[in-house]
Amino acid sequence: MAKLTKLDDIVSLCKRRGFIFQSSEIYGGLASCYDYGPLGVELKNNVKRAWWRASINMRDDVVGLDCSILMHPMVWKASGHADKFADLIAECKKCNTRTRVDHLADKAGKHTEHVPLDTAQKDAQSLVNKVCPSCGTIGQFTDPMPFRLMFETKMGANVDDSMTLFLRPETAQGIFANFKNVVDSTRVKIPFGIGQIGKSFRNEVTTKAFIFRTREFEQAEIEFFCEPGTDEEWYNHWKEFRFNWYVNLGIKKENLRFREHDPDELAHYAKGCVDIEYKFPFGSGDWQELEGIANRTNFDLRQHQRGMRTMNDWYENKGDLGKITLKAEAEDYEKGPLSYFDEQQKKRFIPYVIEPSAGIDRSTLAFLVDAYDEEEVKGETRNLLRFSPALAPTKAAIFPLVKKDGMPEIAHNICDDLRKYFTCFYDEKGAIGRRYRRQDEAGTPFCVTVDGQTLEDKTVTVRDRDSMEQYRVSTDQIKNHLREKLDI
Ligand code: ATP
Repeated sequence: MAKLTKLDDIVSLCKRRGFIFQSSEIYGGLASCYDYGPLGVELKNNVKRAWWRASINMRDDVVGLDCSILMHPMVWKASGHADKFADLIAECKKCNTRTRVDHLADKAGKHTEHVPLDTAQKDAQSLVNKVCPSCGTIGQFTDPMPFRLMFETKMGANVDDSMTLFLRPETAQGIFANFKNVVDSTRVKIPFGIGQIGKSFRNEVTTKAFIFRTREFEQAEIEFFCEPGTDEEWYNHWKEFRFNWYVNLGIKKENLRFREHDPDELAHYAKGCVDIEYKFPFGSGDWQELEGIANRTNFDLRQHQRGMRTMNDWYENKGDLGKITLKAEAEDYEKGPLSYFDEQQKKRFIPYVIEPSAGIDRSTLAFLVDAYDEEEVKGETRNLLRFSPALAPTKAAIFPLVKKDGMPEIAHNICDDLRKYFTCFYDEKGAIGRRYRRQDEAGTPFCVTVDGQTLEDKTVTVRDRDSMEQYRVSTDQIKNHLREKLDI
């Protein structure tokens, strides 16, 4: 039986084998930012490709988009982020560490229930039993205060027209801002979705657990637009669809679960929200959010209609968002610029939206954790990553058994041919057993070895990562054999 994976094992494997490094490590590192090395970038690209393929290419009701990271500041005023995208934090009076109030726990490990910013009890009294996670002092906190999570930056060289912009904290708003463009320029008809993958940035108060929570990360989000009244059905559809995506890519079902949000946890506009949680190996094994799926009603498009109506105030106040109040909704908002005309029913409405919002880095971590395994083989420990073939960074490694008798040439030829179809790795250094073990650790599903018998009968040895079984395949069949096994 596989032993319980510790995050430390994953972190050390990732560094040792070039999956993930600390950002700016040569200068001591930059907290909560990470770089993906040669194997890591292949893995992460495969996660993105698998998401894009399943959610966009394989469906006829979702189209793709790639929005800019920098957007007009009014996008964030209308979405509510400029005023409300903040975490409630409290500072320990002893060690000055600031912690998210909802991450503080009492001695028994009980966390504060989720507290929406608007309604939170904003005094230190509510924290008398809470323990500072940094120094362990109990109940010595300042009054909770909001901390804005968006990073600011400046655009433009001239003082007069330079603007303060935000690095986007989610990719979703770029989709809402392009809803009309997509409807007007394509043949999409409701129900349909728009999906995108891209970087998001949040100045998180507490970062933790490797790439689980970072300040720069990638999201994969879909806004699925549907007619009001059909939203429940689509919400259930997307719940199931997204859950199965993880399972189909190899995550063990017992490590996944749904957590439906309590009504008091929901944003005021949301009709429902569920997290897909994964049992991450932090501490003693902890269920944590992997992806959120929300029924956002027609809130966002309505907000952007209000934003569009407020643009004059934006100019008048020279872009100072703090001085701007969003204009009230037009009475006939259902006929507004972001409404949709249903040709068949001859009616106009603001679509409802179901939003599956996944984290690429967080799911990459889940795929790594779930694939990690250690086995005892002939008295030695074998570390391996049992990635599904679709996610494996390298699909096949090609080895000559020895560096003579023409074996390297044959192996090179095979490798060059296979590279046209999938990622391959050529290796001729060291004992064959060690070469196999290195590929096990990289998660490579198959190794192909050119050996003495190849010279006699033109067959090669194929070795399966998971079973370690070895069998022979003729060189002219190796491409078809592996493509079939890898399903690519
Ligand atoms: P949390 O409560 O953990 O801060 P959230 O509920 O604010 O997360 P969402 O806004 O729903 O997260 O974002 C959707 C997804 O984006 C999350 O499920 C997660 O996979 C990913 N994500 C969000 N914040 C981060 C982060 N700081 N680092 C890595 N991934 C993130």
